[in-house]
Amino acid sequence: MSDPDVVLEARRRRTFAVISHPDAGKSTLTEALALHADAITQAGAVHGKAGRRGVTSDWMEMERQRGISVTSAALRFTYRDTILNLVDTPGHADFSEDTYRVLTAVDCAIMLLDAAKGLEPQTLRLFDVCRHRGIPIVTFINKWDRPGQDALALLDAVEERLAIRPTPITWPIGLAGDLQGLIDRRREDEVVGFSRAAGGATAATARVLDPAAMSQNSAYRTAVEELDLLSSVGAEHEPEAFLAGKATPVYFGSAVSNIGVRHLLDGIIDLAPSPAPRPTVSGAPRPLDADFSGVVFKVQANMDRAHRDRIAFVRVCSGRFDRGMQVVHAATGRPFSTKYASALFGQERSTLETAYPGDVIGLVNATALRVGDTLCTGRAVAFPPLPAFAPEHFAVLRPQDLSRVKQFRRGVTQLDEEGVVQVLVSDRRGEQAPVLAAVGPMQFDVALHRLAHEFSAPGVLEPLTYQVARRTDAAGAPVLERAPGVEVFTRTRDGALLAVFPTPWRLASVSRDHPGVRLDPMLDNP
Ligand code: GDP
Repeated sequence: MSDPDVVLEARRRRTFAVISHPDAGKSTLTEALALHADAITQAGAVHGKAGRRGVTSDWMEMERQRGISVTSAALRFTYRDTILNLVDTPGHADFSEDTYRVLTAVDCAIMLLDAAKGLEPQTLRLFDVCRHRGIPIVTFINKWDRPGQDALALLDAVEERLAIRPTPITWPIGLAGDLQGLIDRRREDEVVGFSRAAGGATAATARVLDPAAMSQNSAYRTAVEELDLLSSVGAEHEPEAFLAGKATPVYFGSAVSNIGVRHLLDGIIDLAPSPAPRPTVSGAPRPLDADFSGVVFKVQANMDRAHRDRIAFVRVCSGRFDRGMQVVHAATGRPFSTKYASALFGQERSTLETAYPGDVIGLVNATALRVGDTLCTGRAVAFPPLPAFAPEHFAVLRPQDLSRVKQFRRGVTQLDEEGVVQVLVSDRRGEQAPVLAAVGPMQFDVALHRLAHEFSAPGVLEPLTYQVARRTDAAGAPVLERAPGVEVFTRTRDGALLAVFPTPWRLASVSRDHPGVRLDPMLDNP
């Protein structure tokens, strides 16, 4: 059944994430975006005065209570009649699989840079994931209200280190720390000045300035010269280059003072892509107005301590979703009821009645759902699997308290299903001592924390010295098992056979000695 409304609804949606290094201002920017779009007041979620304790503070509060930042939800707000779904990337310093997977659910990313620090390690890694997945990137250079690097130097760094062409949309008048206004290149170089709101913390008020009156201002003259320079090297926004990931529109501002945030919001609506038909395993993308389909990109247990629930976050890929509709769980072919669907608004949940491509649905008590699963109605569909990343950290996990072995096992299964860590087993080690594998070591902390707090079954980790994993097959496994220093495991999640090596050099020598053996760096290739 084709529904023309679906295409229109998809067109007025933008689903995006913010990628940044910790402390660059992601929470502040998230709050500023929501505040600017008026989402916080609309949803009645303002706490305290002036909206400073808004949605994102709730996230942080929740993270504080849990001890570790493990939440990931989607924030939804409306701006200029467009529905913006901001999918939160986990905020911890470590790099984990969670972060990667969240990026499979978005159509665009905002790369947030601290004006003083420029490109930082976490930003670079996240950028690589976006590039690998072909996700277009908008850049926001934050904290222009305090001293930082030179604007042109920041653009050079982006161009050189990321090999992406920066095309500024706004340009700062004044050095970082002396921000006097922004020039908006998309609006015929309109000049916007800001005055601080009383109290300073939120919403600076913007006003359009007369360029003629600015002509004596040396910061303005410098900015105009810099723009001339940029124009002469062709740093103009080109939609195709942006969508192909070859160029990134750049915005300047200060999230904490709400400067440049409106420009960024407009940019997301005007430049960023709306949801597009998602490619399927068979190659042909599923049209937006086909029957409903969605992919689980995140499963989170026990978000609400009082209810012991389990929420599966589903990104709608096609069709219209109506709460209560019967959908099919593609992995098992079983029907799945969606009576308990909710839109997540920070910690607040509201019941969601309908959703369209690009929207994120939280399905409560979705015990049967795993990360990567597809839900659909009508003609069955299979989307390519979510990428599984090569772990670089390995440790044997044992229960601390032998009288809690049952709870311990249940916990490990749960963490495995949620994709918190990869769980590896082998005949040699036996099922009692699974090996946990992670992309970032923080995944181990999360696993231990949750085993102890949610399952009351603390575990002990004994690190293994492996550093590299490769996928092999049934023919290669026995050969590799005989190679000194190498171990072969089955990944419980999907039955993949993984060989692990103590060093990249050992891997190199083993693959030299056994040229016929499969050693695939892409762990998710069957
Ligand atoms: P996150 O770790 O990326 O989520 O960063 P936060 O949003 O928590 O911000 C980190 C710190 O930077 C906080 O102290 C913020 O108040 C501060 N901050 C965020 N945005 C700005 C900004 O535009 N200007 C200034 N001066 N500080 C900011």
